Amino acid sequence: MINVTLKPGRDKTARQHHPWLFSGAISQINGNPLPGEIVKVLDSRNEFVAFGYFNSRSQIQIRLLEWDESQNIDESWWHTKLEQSIARRGQLSEDHQIDSYRLVYGEADLLPGLIVDRYADWIVIQSLTAGIENVKNTIVSSLQNLLHPAGIFERSNVESRSFEGLEQAAGPLYGQIPPDAIKIKENGLSFKIDIKNGQKTGFYLDQRDNRQAISSFANGLDILDCFSYSGGFSVYSLASGAKSVTLIDSSAQCLELAQENLKLNDLEMTRATFIEGDVFKILREFRDNGKRFDMVILDPPKFAPRKSDLKKAMAGYKDINMLALNILKPAGILATFSCSGAVDPQSLQVALFWAATDSRREIQIIKTLSQGLDHPRRVSFPESEYLKGFVCRVI
Ligand code: SAH
Repeated sequence: MINVTLKPGRDKTARQHHPWLFSGAISQINGNPLPGEIVKVLDSRNEFVAFGYFNSRSQIQIRLLEWDESQNIDESWWHTKLEQSIARRGQLSEDHQIDSYRLVYGEADLLPGLIVDRYADWIVIQSLTAGIENVKNTIVSSLQNLLHPAGIFERSNVESRSFEGLEQAAGPLYGQIPPDAIKIKENGLSFKIDIKNGQKTGFYLDQRDNRQAISSFANGLDILDCFSYSGGFSVYSLASGAKSVTLIDSSAQCLELAQENLKLNDLEMTRATFIEGDVFKILREFRDNGKRFDMVILDPPKFAPRKSDLKKAMAGYKDINMLALNILKPAGILATFSCSGAVDPQSLQVALFWAATDSRREIQIIKTLSQGLDHPRRVSFPESEYLKGFVCRVI
């Protein structure tokens, strides 16, 4: 096995189990590891630090896997790690009346570069790195043995693969090819999911707990669901007694799916309005036309894909939250999210403060939200936190 030696002092974060090592930390590599090859990481005194997989094409040159030198990173190692990650989801399905959740959340589940989602009888995987690409067959056969799914489908058609020198990839890996729409259950509600073409791996599983949290405020309210995708927040809200929901999304296809999801749950279509368009533009129109709501939900796409986008993203969050506050009725509720990893909860609160100041509204945060419990945040890997939200009330 090829050894990679770190510069003096650069083993600190690795020993604290942060899984990423950048080229600047490396002093010597005794060989030419192939993309994704397992290497042994040593400190400057040649003492063992960890095993990891290497990729010279990536800025993150090594992703650490194992800190116990007696372990072999072989098929049974990968199998055990998958088994443990799945076991950690334990009672999730019984407790939450759900059949769909994230089984493996990459680095946070000690499996860097790998995402595994379960949708009822189907498994979707995302392989984000060369290291995972090398063991994809092992992972697929372990998942077969552990879960006996109807099929395993790959959705590695994500831009970040290019940082690893990998092409995008999507398609069946095992078993049957999934139908165009499969039905899943979540907290007693049903959703149609397109795992072959939907956003992410088909559904925003990470918002499950937040859909539930927000629906507890919904009874009797006129709700505006911005960036609605397949209608997750609206279905929960209507099922909890919302007077009306208005869904806005720029994609007609998403709105069609949302419509089907309302029908699937026997919700009255007369209480729903679907608007295809740009949220920023439509909120301005509502503001100018005097259209007002009791609750506005803002769940936009990532405004800051990279740390360098932070300033622009903050302006975006401020703008959209200000527009939402402008169209809230007195005592209205704003449920606002950011899924940009580069924007921490405090920064979102700052954007909210700017928004409140400029819209001349006084608001209280009444609930702080995060990603669902199947998207755990590993304390030694703060980058695993990306979704945050606040429920606020105008006072
Ligand atoms: N709230 C959803 C997830 C939202 S994902 C859920 O819980 O499932 C973001 C959505 O915003 C996507 O569906 C995308 O089509 C839409 N979108 C992106 N930019 C937009 C814009 N400027 N105006 C309206 N919709 C937009």
